[in-house]
Amino acid sequence: MASIRERTYIMVKPDGVQRGLVGEIISRFEKRGFKLIAAKLASPPKEQLEKHYADLSSKPFFPGLIKYMLSGPVFALVFEGLDAVKTGRVMLGATNPLQSAAGTIRGDYALAVGRNICHGSDTVENAEKEIALWFPEGIVQYSLLQESMIFE
Ligand code: UDP
Ligand code: MG
Repeated sequence: MASIRERTYIMVKPDGVQRGLVGEIISRFEKRGFKLIAAKLASPPKEQLEKHYADLSSKPFFPGLIKYMLSGPVFALVFEGLDAVKTGRVMLGATNPLQSAAGTIRGDYALAVGRNICHGSDTVENAEKEIALWFPEGIVQYSLLQESMIFE
């Protein structure tokens, strides 16, 4: 059963920040009904990005990926809501923007796999790990007054 308290880690990558897409990406999640529970601009050290993408460390594109992620600040976000992880991935579109449907974030704003503007957690377990990595200070809790208009 999907939980309305499920959380996902969404990160606007350096190209998304430079292209002025932070507001657009936040807005899409807010309008869908997700609750924004953490947000910050960050310039993480290389080690943090290597940890974030540790599962991909043996891939040939890994050094280029880390260089890209270090090219400017990222905007780190946590959203909470029903089926947040899977729905977040659908909203992002495919990893390769050329295969992303129009109407998705990557399908509307990106063309190249190595410049696909936004990250989203792929499983609930990875979401929790990523949230702990990017927000070690913890997350503010608050209740969303419009919740009964979004969930049954
Ligand atoms: N990536 C890349 N080349 C590839 C595959 C992935 O540059 O052939 C980059 C791309 O930025 C992608 C990130 O590595 O978003 C992480 O890859 P993953 O397979 O986890 O895709 P995602 O979960 O971001 O859709
Ligand atoms: Mg991934």
